[in-house]
Formats: sequence, structure tokens, C-alpha cells
Amino acid sequence: MKTLIIHHDDCLNHDPGPRHAERADRLRAVLAAIEGMPETEFLPAPLATLEQVQLAHDPAWWQNLVNLEPEVDRVTLDEDTFLSPGSIKATLRGSGAACFAVDQVFAGKAKNAFCATRPPGHHAEAAVAMGFCLLNHVAIAANHALATQDIQRVAILDFDVHHGNGTQAIFEQKPEVMYISSHQSPLYPGTGHAHETGCGNILNLPLPPRSGSREFRQAWSDSGLPAVRNFEPQLVIISAGFDAHMADPLAQLELTDEDYFWMTREICALADEICHGRVISVLEGGYDLGGLAGAATAHIRALTS
Ligand SMILES: [Zn+2]
Repeated sequence: MKTLIIHHDDCLNHDPGPRHAERADRLRAVLAAIEGMPETEFLPAPLATLEQVQLAHDPAWWQNLVNLEPEVDRVTLDEDTFLSPGSIKATLRGSGAACFAVDQVFAGKAKNAFCATRPPGHHAEAAVAMGFCLLNHVAIAANHALATQDIQRVAILDFDVHHGNGTQAIFEQKPEVMYISSHQSPLYPGTGHAHETGCGNILNLPLPPRSGSREFRQAWSDSGLPAVRNFEPQLVIISAGFDAHMADPLAQLELTDEDYFWMTREICALADEICHGRVISVLEGGYDLGGLAGAATAHIRALTS
């Protein structure tokens, strides 16, 4: 079976502005780098349904966001987060891709899946768009899996350089979902301290600026991966941000392409042992085009191997 790459050109239409780090060229760089990789199959992302959006988001908040989408120019949601013409469809493709990835992997139609979509999602809370994020794709996908499959436990592993405050907030009182995040601290959004443990289902692995391969691998080997093993998830979802790469301009961690290969192989090997290899991965951050392309390629190489 192959690694499914789920994408849609609608994701290029979200435009937060000419100097914004979260730009359509990010996705173009990823797709150009991974096009034609062996053992991959590319499929279009469907739009998430309203029912799927409501698995993680407040319906009144979402309707308001849909109503705010402009026909020209941009609407400012916060200093980092904007709506442009096409933003709603773009983010619906991201959540739709993640749900479709769950369906395909559980149906045995793919080895695993990577959603090459934007804008990212892990900062979005149930009723807050922030940090470039509108809908929280991994949260929707986790609840979609719990609602549609005969499973009781999902683990979300987040190696984006920023803490996924939205994912943590959505699940901190829901023991069926474990959320584990490594991230630079201090850094935006300011959450993700080790003492934030939810109902015992949250594990934060903050790393000081200038941490590199050694600190990152040690945190996951000593704490993150053993916690996944103990939890025995029936599905693993990756919040795959590549902004901890040494080339990234938004943060000061120093990971290399090989660290992303290592991390992804470790996750897949563990998933092979405990949940039939069921892994779906969703693109989050990554703002240096070359760093992003190289890291994403290493990630896909590990998913396919
Ligand atoms: Zn990030």
C-alpha cells in the first residue's frame, strides 16, 4: 500500500497578505518537492462538512467566520490571522483532507497519509482563530475518527516549533485523546509548559532556544514516545510543522532534515506495533521554503519506507 498525499489547489487561495510568512508558496514548495516520490498516491482533498467542523468548533463562531469572509481584500482577525477571498474553502479543504485521510487509512486503502494543505490548524481553538489558523484540522480528524470508527483512543503528536494551544484546549478534558507536543519555549503562543497536563492526557516537552537534534530526540525517546506506547492509541495523528528546522526564520530550534526522518520513522515503527501502522499527518508550520521542502521530503520518505 502507498502513502496517500491529499491536497487541493483551493488551499493556494487563502492570502493573508504579501509579507505574511504563511503564504501559498509554502504549499507550492512542498508539492514540488514531493511530486513523483516513490510509493505515493496523490488524491484531491474534499471539503469538510459542517458536521465535521462542529466536531471541534462552536457552530455559531464558525458561522460568524464564514459570514466575515470578504469578497475583496482582507479581514483582520488578529495581528497574525486574516481572512481573504477563498480562505473558508482553503481551511475546509484542510479539515476535509484530514477526515478523508482517516477514512482511507481505516478502510485499508492507504498505508498512511499526509495532508498537504494550508492554512495550518493547531493554534485554532473551539471558538478562536489565531496564529495563522482558522480550523483545527487535527482536532476535527481525531474526533471524526472517534465518531466514525470503533476506536476509543487517538494520540496527536505535534512537533511544530510552536505549542498547539488550540489542540490542547480542545482536548484537555477529553481522556480519549492524548496530545503530546515538543516546541520551543519561550515562544508564541506562550502555552505548553510541562505543568499543563490536562486530565493526564497532555504531555508538553518544551525545548529552550538553540536546542537541536540531541535535545529533540532525547525528549521524544525518553518521554514522548514511551507515553504514546503506554496510552496504546488506535490511531496516531501528526501535527507536522517543519518550523523547528534550523533554516526557519520564525524560531530558534536547529533541527535537520534527518531529524524529521528519524521522528517520523520512530512514530511509524511504534504505530506498526500498537495500531496497525495507522498514521495520518497534517502539515502545520514551516516558513523557510527550502527548509520546509527538505523536511517535508524527509517526512514523506519516512512515511513510505
Ligand atoms: Zn509553528
